[in-house]
Amino acid sequence: MKQLLTEKPQALKMLDVDPPKIEWPHDVLVKMKAAGICGSDVHIYHGASPVATYPRVMGHEIVGVVAEIGKEARMVKVGDPVIVDQITACGECYPCKIGRPNICCNLKVRGVHIDGGYREYMTAPEDALHILPEKLAFTDAVMIEPMSIAFQACARAEITQNDRVFILGAGALGKSLIKAALLTGAEIIVSDVVDQRLEEAKELGVHHTINAKKENLAAKLKEYTLWGPTVSIDAAGFTGSLPLLADITCNAGRVITMAFLDEPSPVQQFKITAKELDIRGSRLQNNKFKEVIAAYKAGKIKIEGAVSHIYPFADAVAAFERIDSGDPTVKKIALAFE
Ligand code: MN
Repeated sequence: MKQLLTEKPQALKMLDVDPPKIEWPHDVLVKMKAAGICGSDVHIYHGASPVATYPRVMGHEIVGVVAEIGKEARMVKVGDPVIVDQITACGECYPCKIGRPNICCNLKVRGVHIDGGYREYMTAPEDALHILPEKLAFTDAVMIEPMSIAFQACARAEITQNDRVFILGAGALGKSLIKAALLTGAEIIVSDVVDQRLEEAKELGVHHTINAKKENLAAKLKEYTLWGPTVSIDAAGFTGSLPLLADITCNAGRVITMAFLDEPSPVQQFKITAKELDIRGSRLQNNKFKEVIAAYKAGKIKIEGAVSHIYPFADAVAAFERIDSGDPTVKKIALAFE
């Protein structure tokens, strides 16, 4: 089978290797159908990921069909269309014991710490698979994973319909967050520096948009919320974003971080204390694939339309080069397998 290996940063190679075999009775062999390229994959390729190890088969937005099942596998059957959960956890540590395997102390993420789905076949335990909704194309179904990340951030923020939610950044992550946050019934305000993205945010149904380059962000937020947003979610992740959110978020509010930014962000502790801010990280997702799939099936969220380009898996190297070219029409690439 074909497998895209990141030997080391900046070194992608399409190799011919033997397909993996089922090793455990509850394992399932999945024939890949589509895999998304995420910003974090681009970081791994560039050597800019603080967590990835090499050599690595990337790919954590991975969908396919069940090709073979282990002797004791009962949760799926051959032919089922599935998405593979990206998380593997130890089950023994404190976060695992309290039901938060997404931040397991021995966390191994498919495509990051262990091999993922940029290959024609992979194995996974049956409980890592979620059956895809009917009528959702494989290349669109890769977006269930990014959507699950947005659901997690909203869950961490404990958004209710009385909240006023500010989302910093209307790129790919920001848009998934908008879709997830709108489900709560809260008022949503989004800022970005690109008008086009703000237009797209409006089309999704946000209540207010702010171009932070042209308008005074703090003044506008005051106008729209009076006391400041009760929830702020950082979908931009630059050195100044956390201090900014600590500044503009309402007393008793929640600030959600999502970036893997390595440089320090200078936040005045005084602001956190004086406002009793909750600053909470949100990583990956905890049991959110089911919620995303249920919301899609109920017609509450749209998953289609986010993928801008589809490349055959055989041309995966060219797909990464296209992203590196900085082409602004590239919003999301899905790799399609035969
Ligand atoms: Mn992703």
